[in-house]
Amino acid sequence: MPCRTTKELNELVQEAKKYTGKGKVADYIPALAKAHHEELSVAIFHDDGTCVSAGDVKQKLTLQSVSKVLTLALALMDYGEEAVFSKVGYEPTGDPFNSIVKLEFSPSKPLNPMINAGALAVTHMIKGKNEEERFERILTFIQQLAGNSAIGYSAEVAESEYRTSDLNRALCYFMKQHGVIDEDIEELLRVYTKQCAIEMDCLDLARIGCVLAMDGVEPRTNLRLIPASVARLCKTFMVTCGMYNASGEFAVRVGIPAKSGVSGGIMGSVPNRFGIGIFGPALDEKGNSIGGTKLLEIMSAKYNMSMF
Ligand code: GLU
Repeated sequence: MPCRTTKELNELVQEAKKYTGKGKVADYIPALAKAHHEELSVAIFHDDGTCVSAGDVKQKLTLQSVSKVLTLALALMDYGEEAVFSKVGYEPTGDPFNSIVKLEFSPSKPLNPMINAGALAVTHMIKGKNEEERFERILTFIQQLAGNSAIGYSAEVAESEYRTSDLNRALCYFMKQHGVIDEDIEELLRVYTKQCAIEMDCLDLARIGCVLAMDGVEPRTNLRLIPASVARLCKTFMVTCGMYNASGEFAVRVGIPAKSGVSGGIMGSVPNRFGIGIFGPALDEKGNSIGGTKLLEIMSAKYNMSMF
């Protein structure tokens, strides 16, 4: 049974909130350091279009790495699987999201699209005649998935990340040398940092999670927004690499496709049932929302969410 009452969901949030004190807000992107450590909010969007939420769900979060799933979907829709996976691999790394180490191995393309190197290679592929058009295409696609044309991006967070992106810059130069990407690195970083700074609330995130849960169909309108094969491929990466190098443990404890971001967002997709959007900026040592992960563990046990 999915959760249907706010009271019930509030109780679960209160339980998970006890863990937020053990986490730490991301500060390597200076603008993210302003987030409130104890915050935890969640929305569940069911396949029948109904929604239940708990916590301060009006709070906005930037997508950060959650955006990587959505640009992957768009690149696959633009070019197809063969072309996309000529630039990026299928395998989990077991390394942190921003690690450069595996790029040294042959072939020197990034191992998967959920680590920063792979996501940058995917953003490189997004079609458009200039950086504005490429970013507009990403934003419009995300607005469509959430059914919310008011979604925008935080210029402050994008700028803050762009100015401090030297590690991502290094990944890009490495990949340029190896022929994975062949564009102006600053342009690519501007598109990527804006994509990561796309801003929404938990309800928007849950709606997008639900579209993926329904294999690409928006349940309220019955419109197909993503081909089923693309939605399934994205969900597979969410299972194998969506929670950074904690994806194995998360699969055991929660057992659903999910993607987290360093802002403290988690998007979950319970296949054929519901989408989940979480915002809890205090992170554990792997970079996942500590309260959000705990909340998903509690929810998984209570609502029998694991697909395994
Ligand atoms: N914009 C972030 C970065 O590239 C995304 C990382 C994340 O959320 O894991 O560092």
